[in-house]
Amino acid sequence: MKTAIYPGSFDPVTNGHLDVIKRAGSLFDHLIVGIAYNSNKQTLFSIEERLNLLKETLKDVPHVEVIYFSTLLVDFVRERKACAIIRGLRAMSDYDYECAMYQVNIEMCPEVETVFLLASSEYSFLSSTIVKEFARHGKSLDKYIPKQVRRALLNKFQNVKQ
Ligand code: ADP
Repeated sequence: MKTAIYPGSFDPVTNGHLDVIKRAGSLFDHLIVGIAYNSNKQTLFSIEERLNLLKETLKDVPHVEVIYFSTLLVDFVRERKACAIIRGLRAMSDYDYECAMYQVNIEMCPEVETVFLLASSEYSFLSSTIVKEFARHGKSLDKYIPKQVRRALLNKFQNVKQ
């Protein structure tokens, strides 16, 4: 059974993430969406909120499990016996960081390959940061976020409209 791990902050999950999850899910027997918990990193949504949003959004997607981890990614990958790490690539701006992460991960864990999926064109500009920035200013990018995330943003920023 081939397991892959898709790690990220998912603060919050967007349709761009969901697109990667569905595409990666079709390549592996089991996909773990790993929410990185880093107490030094400021997030809008707590780890529990991010976990619940992902679980609700993915409840009908088969072979996908959502868990959070607070260890190094390579340790999490080994612990879960995964054979691959999934990352999404939007633009060249993602490339430098992803390239550096790839190099350190393959050095520490040569048996685990990183698989990069190019963002679908309709989501190639989309990031959690943009979603939060719009919501903070009273606008919700409804076409680009699951309805559970829209609701959660409404709770955080009372005046969010489309
Ligand atoms: P991180 O803090 O690890 O970058 P993110 O939640 O921002 O966490 O992203 C997780 C992964 O999903 C990264 O590989 C990122 O490039 C990818 N990703 C984010 N948004 C999109 C999108 N719109 N389309 C494709 N991949 C994306």
